[in-house]
Amino acid sequence: MNFLVIGGGVAGLLSAHRLRVDYPDASITLIERDHQLGGLLAGVDYGKGRYFDLGTHVFQETGNPDIDEFLFSIVPPEELIHFDVGQGDLAGSFFSGHLQTNTHFTDLRHWVGDTDEMVASLRSHFAGIKDFPSLDRCASLLDVANLRFGKAYASQVIAPMLEHVFGRSAETLSGFALLLLGLTRVVVDDFPDWLAQSKDEKYRSLFGVPDQRLLPQEYRNSKRSFYSRKRGSFAFVEGITKFLESSGVHFKLGTSIVNLDLETASLHLENSMGQFETIKNLDGIVLATGVIGVAKLLGLDLASFGFDRPMPHDLIHLELKEPVDSDLCYFYGLDSKSDFFRITNYRALTNLADDCRLTIEVLGQKQLNPEVLVPSLTNQLQALGFLSNEEFTFSRLQRLPAGFPVPTVRNMKALESLGIHLENLLYPHTRIAGIGARPGLFFQNEIMKDVFERAARFAC
Ligand SMILES: Cc1cc2nc3c(=O)[nH]c(=O)nc-3n(C[C@H](O)[C@H](O)[C@H](O)COP(=O)(O)OP(=O)(O)OC[C@H]3O[C@@H](n4cnc5c(N)ncnc54)[C@H](O)[C@@H]3O)c2cc1C
Repeated sequence: MNFLVIGGGVAGLLSAHRLRVDYPDASITLIERDHQLGGLLAGVDYGKGRYFDLGTHVFQETGNPDIDEFLFSIVPPEELIHFDVGQGDLAGSFFSGHLQTNTHFTDLRHWVGDTDEMVASLRSHFAGIKDFPSLDRCASLLDVANLRFGKAYASQVIAPMLEHVFGRSAETLSGFALLLLGLTRVVVDDFPDWLAQSKDEKYRSLFGVPDQRLLPQEYRNSKRSFYSRKRGSFAFVEGITKFLESSGVHFKLGTSIVNLDLETASLHLENSMGQFETIKNLDGIVLATGVIGVAKLLGLDLASFGFDRPMPHDLIHLELKEPVDSDLCYFYGLDSKSDFFRITNYRALTNLADDCRLTIEVLGQKQLNPEVLVPSLTNQLQALGFLSNEEFTFSRLQRLPAGFPVPTVRNMKALESLGIHLENLLYPHTRIAGIGARPGLFFQNEIMKDVFERAARFAC
C-alpha cells in the first residue's frame, strides 16, 4: 500500500507515525514544502546554544497513552523535563499595572477599578448560576463572558483587556479569545477563603486559586506538562523524524505540490532543484496542513469564506546578560500599557541556572523598528520587576509569515464553514489533519489526539 502525508508539522509527523503503526508494510512518504520539518514546532537555531521556540510550546499530556508514551520515548531521558502536576509550567500575566506571578487569571484584588463593587457583582452573578456551560468557541466573546462572569466584569474587564490584546472591538471577538489566553476564571479571594469554599466545584469553575503554587493536589490537572531541556519543541520533531526514518518513512523536503487531484489520488510535485515528479494511485492521502492549507492546495478562494486577516506576529529572541530570577515559564501582557503579547522564559522551563534566553511575542505591529522596540520592551520588563537589568548580549527579530489568527467570530465561523465545505470534497482515501480538521480544533493536544483517533477511520 502507498500512503502520502502532506505537511511536516506535528499533525503530519504523527499522521505518518499512526499510518506506520496501522500499516507496518506500507510505503509512506511525507512531503514538506519547507526545508525543515516541524511547522510551528520547528523553532529557530542561531548556533552557540541559541535555540528559540516560535512562542511558548510546552507540551501537555494528551491522556492518550499511545501518543504520550511515544513522545516520552523519542527524546533522550536526560533531556526530557517532566513538570510535576501543577508545579511546573507556571504562568503569569501583566494585569492592572503589575506583574502577577501568583496566577495568570485576572487577580481582581489588585484591579485599578472599584474592586468591592466588581467582586460583589461577580458573587451575585455566581449565586444565580446553576452550572457553567462549556465555553462556546464560536459565540461572541461578550455573550460568552456575560454568561460566565456577568455583564459588569465582561464589559469592564474582559472587553477592554482583549481589545488591547487583539486590537479589535470586543463585539467582533469570539469566546475562543478567552480560551486562547486561558482566562476562564477570576481571582477574588485570599487563599484561606478560597480553600474554605473550594470543595464546591461550581465555585472552583469561576474563582481561581489565588496562588497557583498552593493549588491542592486533588484539584490539579492530572495531565503533566513536558518539554525538552536541549532543543525545546524541536527536540520532539527531531525525535519523531528519527523514529519515522528508522521505520522506513520517506521524506521529501523543500517540495511543492504543483497539482493535486484528490479523486484519483495523484499529484505533481516540484522539488527545490526544479525537478518534477508525478505520484499516482495512492491508497491514502493525509492533508496535514490544517483546513486553510488544504484550501490553498485545492485553489479555493479563501476570501469567499469571510476570514479576517491574521495579525502580524513577531518574535523577539533575546539572550540576556543575566538569567531571569523567576519561576514563571511564561506570562501574558493583558495590561493596556503592555506592548507584548507573551513572554517565554526558558530559564524557568529548563531549570538551567545559566539559561538566559527569552522570547517576546508582539502582535499587531504593522512595521517594526527593533532599535526602538527592543529597549522599550526590556525597560518595560525591568519596570515590572521581571528583569534585574535590561541588558542583553544577543537579539533577533523573527516575523512569522502566516501571522496570528485573530480569534474573531468571523474567523471561527469561516474556519468551521471551510471545514464543512472541505469534508464534502473528500474521498474515502483522503482526510485532513491539523487546525480546523474538526470544528474548533486548534490546540496542539487536540490535534495530536485527533490525528490518532481519526486515523482508525482511514478507509482505503
Ligand atoms: C500563532 C499560533 C500560536 C499558537 N499557540 C498555541 C499555544 O500556545 N498552545 C497550543 O497548544 N497550540 C497553539 N497553537 C496551535 C498549534 O501551534 C497547532 O495546533 C499545531 O502546532 C499545529 O500543527 P500542524 O502540524 O497542524 O500545523 P503546522 O505546524 O503549521 O504544520 C503544517 C506544515 O505543513 C506544511 N505545509 C503547508 N502547506 C503545504 C503544502 N502545500 N505542501 C507541503 N507542505 C505544506 C507547512 O510548511 C508546515 O510545516 C498556535 C497556533 C498558531 C498559528
